[in-house]
Parts: sequence; C-alpha cells; structure tokens
Amino acid sequence: MVKADESLSNWDYSGIMPLIHHVGIHGEVEISKGCGRNCQFCTPTMQSKVDIPLEKVMKEVALTVTEGSDHVTLITEDLFLYGSKDKRFIPNKEAVVGLVKSVADYPGVKSIQSSHMSLAPVVQNPRMIKELAEILIEKSWYSLGKKAIITAETGIETGSPRLMKKYMGGKMLPYKPQQWQEVVTNAFGILNDNDWYPLATLIIGLPEEKEEDMLQTLELMDKLKDYNAFYVPLFFVPLENCVLMNKKGAEMDSLSQARWDFFIKCWEYNIKIWKPTFLDNRIHNPLLYKAFDHVFIPSFGKIAGYYYGWTRGEQLKQAFWTLSTPQPTAKKSTN
Ligand code: SF4
Repeated sequence: MVKADESLSNWDYSGIMPLIHHVGIHGEVEISKGCGRNCQFCTPTMQSKVDIPLEKVMKEVALTVTEGSDHVTLITEDLFLYGSKDKRFIPNKEAVVGLVKSVADYPGVKSIQSSHMSLAPVVQNPRMIKELAEILIEKSWYSLGKKAIITAETGIETGSPRLMKKYMGGKMLPYKPQQWQEVVTNAFGILNDNDWYPLATLIIGLPEEKEEDMLQTLELMDKLKDYNAFYVPLFFVPLENCVLMNKKGAEMDSLSQARWDFFIKCWEYNIKIWKPTFLDNRIHNPLLYKAFDHVFIPSFGKIAGYYYGWTRGEQLKQAFWTLSTPQPTAKKSTN
C-alpha cells in the first residue's frame, strides 16, 4: 500500500494551533481538523482528528462578529462528529448540539453554515439531526424557493459496496460496507424530513472501477430520485498526500455509457430540483421566465450540443440536449 506523508499526522493541532487574527472569508471558524475515517482518496484524513475546544471556537466567533460578519461558516470534515472520541464514530450529541447552540446564541450571529457532514451519524442518531435543525433553520443561509433550508457537503462517492470496502471501509461506520446504499437513503430521508438538503459528491473512475460498480451507483441514484439534494459528480483525481496518490485519474474521454448515464442523471436531478429557484431569484417577469426556460436554454443547449458533439463526441451532444430540455419541476417539500 502507498504511504502518504506521515509528518502530516504528527502536527500538534491541539497544542500550538493559533487563533485567527482577523475575520475569515464567509466568517470561517474552524471547529475540527482531520477525520479518521481513512477514505483512500482523501487528504484531510491523513491528519489526526482534533476538535477545537468550544472556548477557542467561541473566541473566533466573537472576533468574527466584532470585525463585521454576521455569518459564521463552521469549518470541519464532519460537524456530526465534533467532540466524539468513539472509535466506531458514534456521535456525541451533547457536544455537537452544545457547539451549534453556543454559536447560534452569540449576539450578532444571524446565519450559520457548516462545511461538511457524514451520513452514518444521521442514521445512528436522528434525534441529533432534529435538535440541530431546530437551531439551524432559524440561522439558515440558503433557501429552496421561499423555504429556508439547511445544508452541508457530504460524500456518497459510490453505490458499490465492493468499492466502499476497498477504498472507504471507515466511511459508513458503525455500519458495514454492504449497508452503504441503505445508510445513504435512510440518511437522506431523515435529513430531508428535518429541512436538511445535502450537497453530495460522487466519484467517477476510482481505480479498478468496473461497469457493475457504476451500475450499482446508478441503482442508488434511482433510489434517491424523490429526495432533495444537490449532486456533484467528480472525476477521480489522485491528490497529493493521499493513499491513492500514485493511481491514474479518470478522464472524460474514457467514460463508458453507464458513466455518462450517471453523469447526466446527477444533473437531471439538480436541474429538476434547483432550476426553478435559480430562475425565480433572477427573472421576475413570467413571460420572460417562460421564454428563458422554453426557448433560450433549449436553444443554447442545442447549439452547445452540436459544438461539443463535433469537438468531443456524440455523448456530450446527447448530454447537452437532454439537460437543456424543459423538465417537470420537483415536488415541493411540504415541511
Ligand atoms: S469521510 Fe470525508 S473527510 Fe473523512 S476520510 Fe472520508 S472523504 Fe475524507
């Protein structure tokens, strides 16, 4: 197995890490470093996991507000594991809710956004998600239509239990790799029921990915069709200082039909869920809206499809044509 730069795991974050001197972009305040789930394509996991003590977090929140930001972005690999020392990644609900409540109650903080979360703690402790939602919905930074929502980035990566076991055996703990699809769908249900709409990344072209792995990812995407989320399909990139750093990255030109189908499906879901909000926020005239949705976007897609079909191949043409066709909008959440 390739070893990454181990000096990264020796940094003493808890002892020597200085506080910020000035407000960060988007009011960034770090609450933890590292992860420990050991996904092999990931660099943050090469650092030992350290939670920043609440008292230090609150000093940075105070500085952030004093220097003019009423928004706080909590920087972490996993909000739900703040304060957890459990080797099976069981969340510490009191620590997480206590942290979020302290930040929310700080005078002058109007909105809070967390950078990342994982899905297994959602299934393991749905009560924690509900309690966090009750606080965070009042400090929401994003909306779907006129409805306030809570979000954070999370990794689905694949629907293949084989690839989960091979490269991400810790990602679903305390559950097993073969339960991953169930963990993802249950977590999305719990999150959506509590107004969390995740931003989820998925990886195309992990080393030795087979067609059946991609078909399992497509199967998982089918199961997710009625949930509200934003999907980001990514090509595998061997980052420096991760276990897979010497493997070959994925390239668009080598995508199979199943990979194209998956890529298009992600964007079909995104367009179905988010396009109306995106257009509503920018175009207020109903006639102009209709012209944009039914004429301008499809025409642009047609032309772009011809161009990219000619320069990059038939599959890209089909992708542009499919995605630019007006689609029925997603059913609005009634929560
Ligand atoms: S769960 Fe996320 S942060 Fe943790 S190791 Fe995996 S990819 Fe990295």
